[in-house]
Amino acid sequence: MVDKWLVGVDLGGTTTKIAFLNWYGEIVHKWEIPTDVSDKGKHIIVHIAKSIDTMLAQLGHSKEMLLGIGLGAPGPVDVSRGIIFGAVNLGWENEYPLKDMLELETGLPVIAENDANCAALGEMWKGAGDGAKELVCVTLGTGVGGGIISNGHIVHGVNGAAGEIGHITVIPQGGALCNCGKTGCLETVASATGLVRMTKELLAKEDTPSSLRQKSLDKLTAKDVFDAAKVGDELAEKAVDQLAFYLGLALANLGNSLNPEYIVIGGGVSKAGNMLLEAIKSYFDQFAFPTVRTSTKLALATLGNDAGVIGAAWLAKHLLQR
Ligand code: ZN
Repeated sequence: MVDKWLVGVDLGGTTTKIAFLNWYGEIVHKWEIPTDVSDKGKHIIVHIAKSIDTMLAQLGHSKEMLLGIGLGAPGPVDVSRGIIFGAVNLGWENEYPLKDMLELETGLPVIAENDANCAALGEMWKGAGDGAKELVCVTLGTGVGGGIISNGHIVHGVNGAAGEIGHITVIPQGGALCNCGKTGCLETVASATGLVRMTKELLAKEDTPSSLRQKSLDKLTAKDVFDAAKVGDELAEKAVDQLAFYLGLALANLGNSLNPEYIVIGGGVSKAGNMLLEAIKSYFDQFAFPTVRTSTKLALATLGNDAGVIGAAWLAKHLLQR
């Protein structure tokens, strides 16, 4: 069994990442294919299955080489039934039987899970979590995703919605509208989109000179804001400080509830690096219960885009061998 490979699939709205990993979680081969969401997403699973077959043939192996497939997908997943709900980005408006469809097309056992949960498992296994069994992972990208691991297992909750860290309310009144329909969610202030919006609001409201005023506002990105903050632009620093405040607040309250060994911060926004981590940590320390402050560590994710496929493969290793 240890000579065979695990398959990790990270299904995204525009690209799907696929990897073959060995038993120890080391990537043997990885590649990407575009996600074809046309015709209500009916080609997605067939394309993944074909791509796995093609790559196996290119590498000179038969299907015997594969133990099973772990699949991370963007939306709430009922893991026991292998069903994803309302993944509208993929064209799947209602329930979609991910596990059954991929098993049918590949002839291999499949386990499906939410993509942010897979990223958390990846960081636990091979990344910043360093094998810790108590871990929270928050992914800061276009949106804010989250995964909570307790005693080495993902916390799903009664209906698969546990770990939706992006939808913790941090602005009870007058916050911006979130994609989920609420207002004042963490996602509205701690995502790349949120940072850009807050920066634009500051630019409109304040007279502070800023290098960002030379940019076309339509094209302003989170990276522009971080780059300006790094060289001491006061207004950009203020926008980053707002993000750090809300994130520090939410993560401290998660810490107060769960006291994990690590809170791992990943996603595109986390590329801002130690400057951002230190800013978040100062607010985390302010809001965390003393024992949590001294025992829960904040860390930047280390696996980047590979976290999802590695975590999905972890599921294939641990849940498909019974
Ligand atoms: Zn929300």
